[in-house]
Amino acid sequence: MSLISTSAALAQSASIETREPEANTGFEQKQAFLSDNYMVVAANPYASWAGKNIIEKGGSAIDAAIAVQAMLTLVEPQSSGIGGGAFILYWDNQNKQLHTFDGRETAPEQVNPYWFMQNNKAMPWLDALVGGMSVGVPGALRALELAHNQHGKLPWKTLFTDAVQTANEGFKVSPRLAKLVALDYHPGLREFAGSSTYFFPGGMPLKAGVNKKNKPLAKTLHNIARHGADYLYTGSLAKKIVDTVNHAPVNPGKISLDDLNAYTAVERGAVCGPYRDRKICGMAPPSSGGINVYQILKLLEKFDIASYSPLDPEFVNLFVQASAMTYADREAYIADTDFTNLPVASLINPPYLTRRAQSIKVDKKWRKARPGKPFSEAQQHHGMTPEQPNTSHVSIIDKQGNAVSMTTSIEFMFGSGLMVEGFLLNNQLTDFSFNPVQGVNPVPNRVEPHKRPRSSMSPTMVFDQTGALELVIGSPGGSRIIDYVAQTVIGVVDFDLNVQEAINLPRITNRNDYTALEKGTAAQDLAQPLEALGHRVKIIDLNSGLHGIQIKDGHYIGGADPRREGVAVGQ
Ligand code: GLU
Repeated sequence: MSLISTSAALAQSASIETREPEANTGFEQKQAFLSDNYMVVAANPYASWAGKNIIEKGGSAIDAAIAVQAMLTLVEPQSSGIGGGAFILYWDNQNKQLHTFDGRETAPEQVNPYWFMQNNKAMPWLDALVGGMSVGVPGALRALELAHNQHGKLPWKTLFTDAVQTANEGFKVSPRLAKLVALDYHPGLREFAGSSTYFFPGGMPLKAGVNKKNKPLAKTLHNIARHGADYLYTGSLAKKIVDTVNHAPVNPGKISLDDLNAYTAVERGAVCGPYRDRKICGMAPPSSGGINVYQILKLLEKFDIASYSPLDPEFVNLFVQASAMTYADREAYIADTDFTNLPVASLINPPYLTRRAQSIKVDKKWRKARPGKPFSEAQQHHGMTPEQPNTSHVSIIDKQGNAVSMTTSIEFMFGSGLMVEGFLLNNQLTDFSFNPVQGVNPVPNRVEPHKRPRSSMSPTMVFDQTGALELVIGSPGGSRIIDYVAQTVIGVVDFDLNVQEAINLPRITNRNDYTALEKGTAAQDLAQPLEALGHRVKIIDLNSGLHGIQIKDGHYIGGADPRREGVAVGQ
């Protein structure tokens, strides 16, 4: 296991593309896990087992996802929880239908486009994320409830039993949680009353291996089991959330009971398109994930990728060009479509991407990409352009072949640092662009009341030539998620690797800036050839947390990222 690295992994800039929500805590070799009937892959063994128990009791994939999320709130509080948001893809295997649920946080009524500006300057990200002003109205629980209303098999009240019991009796603190607490990097965690006593008992950071109880969370989850998601969005818990946010010792926010009462999860159309003989499906805005993962693949489709090895500098140079173009489009166009009228189809339509792929060339020297021109003159004239002017991934397949791909997040490690009744509140509003204007043009992803901040979360499903599900995949990792997921899909589809092998590949990213090569891996050897092509190369920790399930010859292959603590379980 390598030591925690803070320097490269945690950048202090306010710029969206330089920040890293979570730090590296080591690498542990993992083997592909095989099963025939069902499978659950989540970021912590307690969570995977909670999902397994539900499927054993006859539950559907969405039932299992609820049990997993409840448990993750307890055992992986640094990454996700009921105080955060989630995007869920649900594959209904009987009706062969894909549903996607948007549980992204919303901005309160009282925000304005200058929310994160001080003295005409964007606040430093680390200053902005701490306390109340970064907290969006949580959405994960409402999205799970909406999906459960449609696809649940077991009663809601039965899905929290394991998490409630474990919170009451205690769980063994994982090495990753302990390391992230000990890092003492979060500006509020040690300062805020609730989180400081929980994470620093007696003033000392929580230790790995100790038995940790969370009675307030046990009570909260018990009440959510009994009263439904309403327990969090109305009544006394909602009031406590409002009080905690608005009276935060740092950056008090302006959230209201009405903001919580009004929150609704949204069922959206999936973003799907063909890639070679497969179909790739992902999440629509406010996540950029579905569009951007698909763009990378489609931009590379004309190349015979299978003839390369994954670390061939020529292939990596192609991948990086496609990635840079995708991030350029992301920055220019993608935000919450309920506010921007973005015609999503224009960004993934084959003629547009074929045109754009013309400039991708073997041996091309590095050049920063510019956004494409996906809209017609007429569309632009009619205002159809966007504007005038530490996360966790869960993959599940149940005994009926229904599947969940859920990426869930409270944003930075430990979110805003504010804890209410045993769970942490997110800092997801920092995913908005801080500066609302660029030159004279409004930025599409600027802060606005009730808007959802743009995300990079990319829960993905791949379908084969017959329309059958072939791969369920996703990852944490901030805006690098897009590259992590695209690279893993290419690993399975083009390089014919199994999902664990694809997850194990050294990570490579480029968010239209520098080319990042994963430290301590064979990717480091690419520095010289890429620099010779003009790339600015940085060798850094790249903390993917890919969790996936591949279906091959009627069997399930589970893959868990060696960079995190997740496991695949099943039968
Ligand atoms: N907040 C980020 C997003 O929604 C995810 C952060 C992470 O992956 O750690 O894109």
